[in-house]
Amino acid sequence: MTSSAGESAADSQEASGTTWDLVIIGGGAAGLACAIYAGRGRLSTLVLEKMLPGGQVALSDVIENYPGFAEGISGMELAQQMHEQAARFGAKIETATVEAIDVSGRPFRVRLAGGDSDAGPRARALLLATGCSPRRLGVPGEKELYGRGVSYCATCDGPLFGGKSVVVVGGGNTAIDEALFLAGLASKVTVVHRRDELRADPILQERALANSKIEFLWSHVLTEIVGEESVRGARARHVSSGEEREVPASAVFIAIGETPQTGFLPEEIERDKGGYVVSDSDLQTSAPGVFVAGDARSGAYRQIAAAVGEGVLAYRSIRRHLEETS
Ligand code: NAP
Repeated sequence: MTSSAGESAADSQEASGTTWDLVIIGGGAAGLACAIYAGRGRLSTLVLEKMLPGGQVALSDVIENYPGFAEGISGMELAQQMHEQAARFGAKIETATVEAIDVSGRPFRVRLAGGDSDAGPRARALLLATGCSPRRLGVPGEKELYGRGVSYCATCDGPLFGGKSVVVVGGGNTAIDEALFLAGLASKVTVVHRRDELRADPILQERALANSKIEFLWSHVLTEIVGEESVRGARARHVSSGEEREVPASAVFIAIGETPQTGFLPEEIERDKGGYVVSDSDLQTSAPGVFVAGDARSGAYRQIAAAVGEGVLAYRSIRRHLEETS
């Protein structure tokens, strides 16, 4: 390796204009797991995260299926612990949005929002750990009432709707997790799902079906979110009869899956039809020296434990790559 990072050697380097052994784009579970290993492996490592350290992990209320926490752990706390652990071993973690990367020459160049690529950080290896963002429903009222009752994060916004009726759209793990969380605050939660069975894990289904505050509107799609200053309700249509009804609600939480945050990547990095980054079994992308781990990877099992495992596997591949190319 070309630099020898001490316990906090990265601290002495400026993020921008510096050439790092490894720049990790995305400070979620995959990115931070890789950063922990890279710090201990004495790679100079920069993690760029546009939101909260921990990414989607930090937005989860309780995480029950991450091994090692028999009683579960709050997403915020797990994210914080991962962040501190990565920093402790020398990774520098900065809040910044990456607008573009240039992988046509070496070292790779990273352009940050508001900067130009000459001033941005450079990297001998890159890890894409950008994860996903919530998919939009695309119905009238969604954009207009965003932040005024329309939300993609029950943990963040649910407490604003204590004692009120709310709607959750979707039937996956996120939707049912959110419905259960909201049932602890709201007077009533209506889950609007387009089929008559849920996709969520059986244990979550059992809990939601047994919860007296949660009602299901099966085989319905949302057609409109209504309200002027704030959400007043949602219109839903039965998928076969076409019959429409309005569900009164103060908030609509949309949890219909995710889209990968890969729009900023150059064409040298192959993506599948859904926009997820394609990799080989070492998690290397179609651009040598650029690796991918976590939810943005094509074929990933989108779970925190899996993202952590991928971050660690990516570290091994990155280390090997740096040794072979230095
Ligand atoms: P998901 O598993 O893809 O589920 C999306 C849900 O939204 C599905 O029920 C789907 O319906 C519905 N849907 C999709 N497009 C829709 C549309 N246009 N209109 C109406 N409904 C629509 O997504 P997710 O729940 O966000 O989970 C993403 C990943 O994170 C998954 O791998 C999940 O297991 C993981 N995760 C795990 C946990 C946990 O382990 N506790 C918690 C959260 C997330 P259909 O069922 O009809 O397709």
